[in-house]
Amino acid sequence: MENTADCDMDIGAPVIIAGPCAAESRTQVMQTALETAALGLQEKGYRIIFRAGIWKPRTSPESFQGIGDEGLEWLQEVQRVTGMEVATEAGTPEQAAKAVRAGIDHLWTGARTGASPMMIQQIADAVTEAQRDGGQLKSLLVKNPMHEDAALWAGNIRRMQKTGLPVTAIHRGCGHRPCWRMAWKLSKMMPDVPMLLDPSHMSGDSRQVQELCRTAASLDYDGVMIEVHTCPSEALSDAQQQIKPEELPQCLFKRQQTDELVWLRQQIDEADDDIWNAIARRMEISREIGEWKRGQRMEVVQPARFRQVQERRLSWAADNGLHEDTVRAITEALHHESIRTQQHD
Ligand code: PEP
Ligand code: MN
Repeated sequence: MENTADCDMDIGAPVIIAGPCAAESRTQVMQTALETAALGLQEKGYRIIFRAGIWKPRTSPESFQGIGDEGLEWLQEVQRVTGMEVATEAGTPEQAAKAVRAGIDHLWTGARTGASPMMIQQIADAVTEAQRDGGQLKSLLVKNPMHEDAALWAGNIRRMQKTGLPVTAIHRGCGHRPCWRMAWKLSKMMPDVPMLLDPSHMSGDSRQVQELCRTAASLDYDGVMIEVHTCPSEALSDAQQQIKPEELPQCLFKRQQTDELVWLRQQIDEADDDIWNAIARRMEISREIGEWKRGQRMEVVQPARFRQVQERRLSWAADNGLHEDTVRAITEALHHESIRTQQHD
């Protein structure tokens, strides 16, 4: 069965997936769920799904790895007590099978798992089998891989679509920054796949969540996944990016019609961020070079080196369709700033 237009996650109402990064204790899960449910978002026209990670893919083996199987029971309790649908992350086929058997409504795969199409395939196969055995999973959500690779993200989504379940994309960015270009490419490749934005992992900063939700609305996303914790500063993972349930209503949005210009400008801003970050990085290196030169009593200005830098860029420009005058002006401005940095430090 292919993913169909009238599938469960092909939603008119914006989706809000909210809940803690990780299930830490029964009390924490229930309290967060009750406070979230009490906001009455469903009645305000949103489709609300409660999230909590049970098995956490962490960078460091010393940090909290998730509560494990026990957390599934807490999510079942959330379903029973609040009536909310629940979602968790599967990083292995075994976890996927356990979650489906426990009656979890939605499963997502994370950015780290997204780097491995073989693991995604194994998870998809485990879901297919668990569904055949009577599983009631409603949908799958696929986060983008941690690095910019729209084709891999699309491939992962197609693997998941073969389960016959509706599949939604989640744009969580690369590291702690958005990757609008990748999201744009995916939406061109798969216009029928709904896409959510995850402002929490995208920024790693609770203070940016609200603004990113506004951006998601202006780009006509289908909803958001937001990390919510009753006491963010005490969270066992992702403490800096979680907001309190009571802050959630500030992050909601009305869906808007958007045009391509908004998306394209978003990508221009992203490209500008890349350029300026690269310039700042270049100046940091310049500063180190300045110190080295001082140690060697070497002149700051080295005309032969500048000529070499500029010529290398001019031959590159010829192959990349940039005008020689522009390239000269930019390399001169960069060199000027570099010299200034070295003379003033
Ligand atoms: C998460 O949602 O808790 C998570 C681990 O996200 P990501 O895979 O986007 O880092
Ligand atoms: Mn998290």
